[in-house]
This record gives sequence, structure tokens and C-alpha cells, in this order.
Amino acid sequence: MTPFELGVLFVVGLMVGSFLNVCIVRLPAGISIVTPPSRCPKCATRLAWRDNIPVLSWLWLKGKCRACRAPISGRYPIIELATGAVFLLHGVTLPGAPIADPAVAVQLASRLVFSSLLVALLVTDLETFRLPNPLTYFGIGAGIAFSLIGSPGLAQSLIGAAVGASVLLLIRAAWKLARGVDAMGLGDVKMLAMIGAFLGWPHVWAVLLCSSLVGALVGIGLAIAGRGTMQSKLPFGVFLSVAALVSSVWGQRLIDWYMGTLSI
Ligand SMILES: [Zn+2]
Repeated sequence: MTPFELGVLFVVGLMVGSFLNVCIVRLPAGISIVTPPSRCPKCATRLAWRDNIPVLSWLWLKGKCRACRAPISGRYPIIELATGAVFLLHGVTLPGAPIADPAVAVQLASRLVFSSLLVALLVTDLETFRLPNPLTYFGIGAGIAFSLIGSPGLAQSLIGAAVGASVLLLIRAAWKLARGVDAMGLGDVKMLAMIGAFLGWPHVWAVLLCSSLVGALVGIGLAIAGRGTMQSKLPFGVFLSVAALVSSVWGQRLIDWYMGTLSI
């Protein structure tokens, strides 16, 4: 992609991040993401368009509501910038061909929708321990729809969704049998199904392995630091998000390399 196209992609990422902020606040609470329009949570003043410009409005207003001066969380511009950065990363790592090539455009669109969902799921899980159904269900549908016209192909996508859901359901059932408690919520099951639908089944194993490993290390780290016990609940969706993002950008190269080492 040209520097101009990358710039456009970054700005689109900031705007999508602004919409994700709305989803992150409203979906776990079961509020519509369409109505009512954005308001200050403190004084309920409706936000004008000039108060809704990603990052810039927050900087301009010095992180305070225009009407009541109540502080506005720095989380908003951070999520906007993070989404912009993720979009840029996808643009930079997109394999060769120009963006006008339909196959490349579809691949980029698929990656952008996927990573937007991952950002929203990461934050909702971190803040509320919830992975809202509207996000995961939409994601499963979108992943399968993209596979009709692009990678990983319909069969790979359907098998990926099925493998993703069933492997976590099995782990969950085994844990319940052994310990009598739910090791994870059904949100994680739906989320791994979504990841499988977008990336295909070989990625499901890579994502699961990577996220479990990181999750275990973080859990042990927190226990050693005295910030929790080995039984502490961890937002597994956060680790799934990061692993899926890495896998969507570099996973194919890693899988090809691994398969290559096997066939030599
Ligand atoms: Zn206010």
C-alpha cells in the first residue's frame, strides 16, 4: 500500500475505534449501540460532532466534558489509537499486490473486521469479564461470509468454527468433571469459534496453544506477586484476542514454516 493509503487506513482505524468505544460501553450493559446518541455519562449533555472527533476532541477538551468538566476516561483515545495502529499494522503486512486487486481488498476487509471485533472483545473481557454475544455471533457470521469469497475458504472456515467451539466445550466439560467448577464462560467458546471462522482450523490450535501458555504465565506471575491465587479468574478472552491478532498477521508464515520443517 502507498503511504497515502496507509494514512487513510489509520484515520479509518481511529473512527472505527471511536465506534468500538460505544460498543464496549453499551453491549455488556445490554444497551442499543444505535440510540440514544452519545452523551456525557455525568451530565447527559449530548455530544456535538466536534466533541466526537477521535483523539483530537479528547486532547482539545483536555479529557473533560465540555458542559460539566467531568473527567473523560483516557481509555477512549487509547482505544482509538490502538485500533488505528492495528489497522496500520494490517496495511503494512498485507502481502504485495495492490489494494485495487479484489482478492487483496477482501483479505484486508476481513482482517479489519476481525481485528475490530478482537479489540472490542479484549476490552469488554478485561473490564467486565464478559464477551457480549452480539460481537461473537456477528463475528462467527462475518467470518463464514468472508470465507465464501476469500481465504481461508468455506470448508476451512466451517471446520475452524466447529473445532474452535468443540475443543473449548470439551476442556470446559473435563474441568467441570474434575474440579466441579466452570473453568471458563461460554463466551470464550463462542469467541474461539469466531476465530476459527475467520482464520480456519490450523490457526485455532496455534491461537489456543499461545493464549493458554500466556494465560498460564500471567496467572503464575500474579500468584507469585501475591496479586491473586492460582484459582483467580483471568479474562481468557484477552489472551485469545492477542493470540488471534498475532496469528492473523503472522500465523500463516509460522504455519508454513512449521509445515516446511516437517517435510524436509
Ligand atoms: Zn458532562
